[in-house]
Amino acid sequence: MLQPALNAPTPALLDALTRVVGTAHAVRAGDPAQGKYLREWRDRYVGASPLVVRPGSTAEVMEILRLCHAARTGVVPQSGNTGLVGGQIPFESGTEIVLSLDRMTAIRAVDADGYTLTAEAGVTLAAVQEAARAAGLMFALSMASEGSACLGGALATNAGGLSVLAHGTARAQVLGIEAVLADGRVFGSLSSLKKDNTGYDLRDLLIGSEGTLGIITAATVRLVAAPKDVATAFAALPSMDALVPLFRLAQEQAGPGLTAFEFMSARAMEFVAKHGQVSVPLGDAYGPCSVLLEISTAEADRAQPLIEAMLAEALDRGLMTDARIAASAAQQAAMWRLREQMSDVQKHEGGSIKHDVSLPVARVPEFLERAAAIVERVCPGARAVPFGHLGDGNVHYNVSQPVGADKAAFLAVWEPMSEAIHELVAAMDGSISAEHGIGRMKREALRRFKDPVALDMMCAIKSALDPYGILNPGKVL
Ligand SMILES: Cc1cc2nc3c(=O)[nH]c(=O)nc-3n(C[C@H](O)[C@H](O)[C@H](O)COP(=O)(O)OP(=O)(O)OC[C@H]3O[C@@H](n4cnc5c(N)ncnc54)[C@H](O)[C@@H]3O)c2cc1C
Repeated sequence: MLQPALNAPTPALLDALTRVVGTAHAVRAGDPAQGKYLREWRDRYVGASPLVVRPGSTAEVMEILRLCHAARTGVVPQSGNTGLVGGQIPFESGTEIVLSLDRMTAIRAVDADGYTLTAEAGVTLAAVQEAARAAGLMFALSMASEGSACLGGALATNAGGLSVLAHGTARAQVLGIEAVLADGRVFGSLSSLKKDNTGYDLRDLLIGSEGTLGIITAATVRLVAAPKDVATAFAALPSMDALVPLFRLAQEQAGPGLTAFEFMSARAMEFVAKHGQVSVPLGDAYGPCSVLLEISTAEADRAQPLIEAMLAEALDRGLMTDARIAASAAQQAAMWRLREQMSDVQKHEGGSIKHDVSLPVARVPEFLERAAAIVERVCPGARAVPFGHLGDGNVHYNVSQPVGADKAAFLAVWEPMSEAIHELVAAMDGSISAEHGIGRMKREALRRFKDPVALDMMCAIKSALDPYGILNPGKVL
């Protein structure tokens, strides 16, 4: 692991950085306006910084990094501050500069004929989707945080979300990238080429590097044709064992038209029914496991008959007990809102220990069973609340505190709980981070579970591109 020797910024450096962005866009320590840049969504990490800089252009980002590189001062990139592993928050030492992309919000170009869009890093995913929609197209990266999460952060974390089954992760949406390297040079490759085999894929190296190899300032993303028909259904299953056979049936019948297959445990449904601002489609008859599935087709009036036929067969085969098909766009939106609230509603049940893991799809039910035994062993009475993107083998294995337990005492078992869950994941050929990344939270786990050769390669790349280790120090590696 890398332990860079960095310098706290001098007053002269702080002044120089302030001059680059202008006083109005430089937020000093003690200014209440700093608050939103130092605290993450779950309040797990609260950092400190002498200065938050908010550049308005790539040229300003270049100058900031040139100055910090020369001074050997750490810089923490931040876009929408919705990351869930603490990567965008500075350490409590108060010696790192935060570089926020929140002023870089231009959509530079939309090419409807070429199916591409070029935007700056601080544009929210929702705004990219809206711009694509206005051009009659679709941007296929969607997640519950899309109103705040930005293009820069989504690419830096190679975010997943709700459309991965059909369209892949963030990486699959990107054609070109513009990023500023640690020494202030710009890697300007905003290409819209679909084919380019000229050596190492540096674009894909920067995507998913969580701000440790460069600061993404803009990207050219791929757009797709919007489907002509979309059918959404909510189904109750008789048991977790029906999950994989139902997924297989849905794939066989819908082929590439199956655009979502999300699963929710009974406890996740219980929490959302209790605390969510949504109506649950089947009332309290959601069963031991529920699924939200969606079929999208390029032909009009095709998705609805497909989903009806598929659900009828599932009922015949005993793979589900009941289902509701959304009858309007409003009902579709309500079903998705229910799914999107899964994480948020757990706050009402006290402390929650989170895991974002992936497994071979067919082994998800086995994982859920074995993990439940681990939870009971590590903290008797703790309540597993799993849900996730079954089609991607991605389980959000969250664990809520026992009813009436002390929150702090429960959160104190985070490390032993996570270690035991991650050991199971590793034993089942899974990954300890499916889509949220490593950041600060999983740095030690990465050291433990990543192949040592892969870790050596990562450290060599980091040292080559950022020899002083100024970019997001103490994160990932
Ligand atoms: C309610 C909720 C639901 C979520 N659902 C999902 C989901 O379904 N799938 C999923 O993958 N994630 C999900 N997330 C996590 C989060 O939204 C994603 O990781 C998102 O991509 C982060 O984007 P951001 O702009 O907020 O990045 P930030 O939080 O600002 O940063 C995230 C990381 O990227 C780095 N970074 C930020 N901007 C840049 C940049 N321009 N250049 C280089 N590095 C940068 C930061 O240093 C940090 O390490 C969810 C979060 C919440 C709160």
